[in-house]
Amino acid sequence: MHSQDWLVDHLRRDGVVKHHAVEQALRRCDRKNYVDADIPHAYIYQDSPLPIGYHETISAPHMHATCLELLREHLKPGARVLDVGSGSGYLAAAMGLMVGDEGKVIGVEKHPELAQLSVANVRRDHPELLDNGVVELRAGNVLGDALEGEEPFDAIHVGAAASSLPDVLVKKLKPGGRMVIPVGRQWEFQVMQCIDKDPDGKVHKRDLMGVRYVPLTEPGDTSWEE
Ligand code: SAH
Repeated sequence: MHSQDWLVDHLRRDGVVKHHAVEQALRRCDRKNYVDADIPHAYIYQDSPLPIGYHETISAPHMHATCLELLREHLKPGARVLDVGSGSGYLAAAMGLMVGDEGKVIGVEKHPELAQLSVANVRRDHPELLDNGVVELRAGNVLGDALEGEEPFDAIHVGAAASSLPDVLVKKLKPGGRMVIPVGRQWEFQVMQCIDKDPDGKVHKRDLMGVRYVPLTEPGDTSWEE
């Protein structure tokens, strides 16, 4: 019978999941709590994206795992984390488990209904993350004013492809922090970039792999929903 453990066993065997902390976080977040209730059981634990409503998808498990591995050293207990386009809430919950009671994960999702749904998802899976304030999921657009007044973050995960690297996000990275972000226009070549800000504030970029993500949209741009 397929299960979250079965899925993580596969990701481990394929070498996508490498470290214990990532493995534990993925085992403890059950994908069944983050997808539409009408999705047949056999599909929940397949390594592919699934619909979560509002024309959006929960990312494929290997992408969740890859991003957690890339950010692992910045998801230490007590870290302050931003999840952009938090969608289903899956990754925000997984990162919440990694940063512990002293940590903080803020998820920002442009669809208010989806932000609400993601709170219900996390409540089903790990209510303590919401009750102790480690995970906070908000409606807002990060290319609008959603990050105004926010302190910088140790780790930033971006779950939607930006047409170019957004300055507003680079600014919100602490010195010594890391961001993983897919960059590239919709239907064009997109690359996962790893952005490191060194302790002096200098920014280093690395291209990692070709990817396919939904677009990170500007406020008021509804073309993706039509
Ligand atoms: N990691 C999430 C990915 C969801 S898909 C998951 O696995 O569930 C990407 C999400 O980014 C979508 O829900 C979309 O609504 C959201 N999004 C796109 N542009 C955004 C923006 N500018 N600000 C906030 N959220 C955005």
